[in-house]
Amino acid sequence: MTKTPQLSDNYMVTIAERLNSAYARIAQAEKNHQKPAKSVSLLAVSKTKPAQLIIDAYHAGHRKFGESYVQEAVEKIQQIPFNDIEWHFIGPIQSNKTKAIAEHFSWVQSIERPKIAERLNQQRPTNLPPLNVLIQVNISGEQSKSGCNLADVAALSAHISQSKQLVLRGLMAIPAPSDDQAQLIASFSQLKTCFDTLKAQYPSIDTLSMGMSADVEAAIAAGSTMVRIGTDIFGAREYPVEQH
Ligand SMILES: *Cc1c(COP(=O)(O)O)cnc(C)c1O
Repeated sequence: MTKTPQLSDNYMVTIAERLNSAYARIAQAEKNHQKPAKSVSLLAVSKTKPAQLIIDAYHAGHRKFGESYVQEAVEKIQQIPFNDIEWHFIGPIQSNKTKAIAEHFSWVQSIERPKIAERLNQQRPTNLPPLNVLIQVNISGEQSKSGCNLADVAALSAHISQSKQLVLRGLMAIPAPSDDQAQLIASFSQLKTCFDTLKAQYPSIDTLSMGMSADVEAAIAAGSTMVRIGTDIFGAREYPVEQH
């Protein structure tokens, strides 16, 4: 595996080069695990990073970006002058933030309860295409507070599929960090099984969002169709992901 360039290794390493390394890492994992080439897409996670870095990534050809903090994201979205960017909301959702999310994003990956789905459905402007949504699932039990339980996925899916302004596209998860590759693959595989069951029921489902900078290989081994990479593309973040 090629080492991802770090800003500290060479100040001149550009976003374009880091994106290329991320694409190469995904391509290698697809190959190693007998997945079709280009079957896994890349969401560049730009939370906490300045708009200029997103613009640099855009000029390098990238179009899918993930953000976690509503106010920060909306400011950047309004600052960035390209209308062909696919913005994904991937952070925890408070009820009082659903309107801004419904108005500014085309995807939401972090739905974990019916009330939030309901509000997004009502607040999605009717002049925009329906919002693409993923249900976030907790595959790490007690170790994680985010995501619904696997047992709740069926009811939440049924609810979303009845919502006119939402399209159910699949599932997302963030497993507890682990150095144990086999354990990570086992967690991700639980989600993949749930995804396959759901996909057989809802034809709109095509996206299994799992894998971050630290666990891309395990996620792809288990059948991810979208990895969300922040640190390896934009560098380490200055404040912890929990902050709002
Ligand atoms: C921050 C974040 C990522 C990116 O994490 P990195 O470790 O920086 O690659 C991916 N998914 C979600 C939901 C995140 O909040």
